[in-house]
Amino acid sequence: MEKKRKKSAKAFKKAQKVIPGGVNSPARAFSAVEMEPIFIDKGKGAYLYDIDGNQYLDYVNSWGPMILGYNPPQVIKKLKKQLKKGTSFGAPTEVETEIAELIVDFYPAVDKVRMVNSGTEATMSAIRLARGYTGRDKIIKLEGCYHGHGDSLLVDAGSGVATLGIKGSPGVTENTAKETIVVPYNDQKAVEKVFAEYGSEIAGLILEPVTGNMGVIAPEAGYLEFLREITNKNGALLIFDEVMTGFRLARGGAQELYDIEPDISTFGKIIGGGMPVGAYAGKEEIMDYIAPAGPIYQAGTLSGNPMAMQAGLATLKELKNKKIYSKLEAKAEKLEKGFKKNIKEFNFPAYFNRVGSMFTLFFTAKKVENYQDVKKCDQQLFASYFKEMIEAGVYLPPSQFEANFISLALSEEDLDKTIEANYQALKKLKAGL
Ligand SMILES: *Cc1c(COP(=O)(O)O)cnc(C)c1O
Repeated sequence: MEKKRKKSAKAFKKAQKVIPGGVNSPARAFSAVEMEPIFIDKGKGAYLYDIDGNQYLDYVNSWGPMILGYNPPQVIKKLKKQLKKGTSFGAPTEVETEIAELIVDFYPAVDKVRMVNSGTEATMSAIRLARGYTGRDKIIKLEGCYHGHGDSLLVDAGSGVATLGIKGSPGVTENTAKETIVVPYNDQKAVEKVFAEYGSEIAGLILEPVTGNMGVIAPEAGYLEFLREITNKNGALLIFDEVMTGFRLARGGAQELYDIEPDISTFGKIIGGGMPVGAYAGKEEIMDYIAPAGPIYQAGTLSGNPMAMQAGLATLKELKNKKIYSKLEAKAEKLEKGFKKNIKEFNFPAYFNRVGSMFTLFFTAKKVENYQDVKKCDQQLFASYFKEMIEAGVYLPPSQFEANFISLALSEEDLDKTIEANYQALKKLKAGL
């Protein structure tokens, strides 16, 4: 009964001849689940359609941005209007100010915002800003957190780096990697130790306040407060990488949910409403170090691109309505209850983590609180689960080291279908254990 994916197979063969690995981002390769990637034709609401005409209920959301579902009419309307005016000018437009004002409104820790073209650019620039502002070189990052593919942050990273099982990357010089100190997530003592040793050399500490790129893990009670305090005490900047969690866990991101104000915040994904956008933001005193207001150089030919800004603004305007987050929570809660009931029924060695509309089903019976716990998951079992789900028409991230996303487009019926697919998959896999 396996779904036919002849056209995808052919497209992948063709792509591999002209694109490294056949994909433009490693996370899209299905290598960890021992499959070939599925080529997409179109998306509609909660559904993806591949080029063979198969339909899938989608929990990837383009890795986060599509919180409203595919092709929301409000966003499409704005894009069409902008398309007629022009797609890029390399000169200021009013929509850039409008979206910045909205972000400032949503985030009390933010006075000013600089737009870039990806999450990677946002975190790279945030690190440069932290170094330039403090006059220090060292950065603390947390094991398993992913902050894009910038040199300084590609050390013990999550997402595709974790999926491929590599520690760093060839091409990142030892001198660069040396300035990045890696500590485990949710481990206060490890952070204390680093500050005791290098306190006056630390420019900043960057983290995913709720992790998504090693799967979803919440901060332990008091952990973010501790990080806020120890960075303050040592004159280091606290950087929340909210590329995934921003506008996702709450309108004001994880910093609203946990009521902590970081010094610099980075955004991406939802902020572009499906177009390539990133941003970094913070208090005026820090942000005014950026050129042309200040000496730290950072620029971009397509930064603040009007098409991207229109899609982002239309998406963020929808999220003004706080009810959206209670709706997402209700959907996510329903799925959690269903999955947990299934796990219990089969006494299945799986652990479910969720914060808001982000969740991960870990294939381990033990609690998952950091990267070492994630690494103990049964990846073979995950791969089998992934295959069962895809055959049932449910499209999940093709790696254990990723977050699943709930979009507003998912109906009660869609969720029931997913819970039933999960039931059948666990039943079948349990029989083989
Ligand atoms: C996706 C992601 C990035 C990288 O963003 P890109 O747009 O892929 O460059 C950085 N940080 C976090 C937390 C992310 O989830």
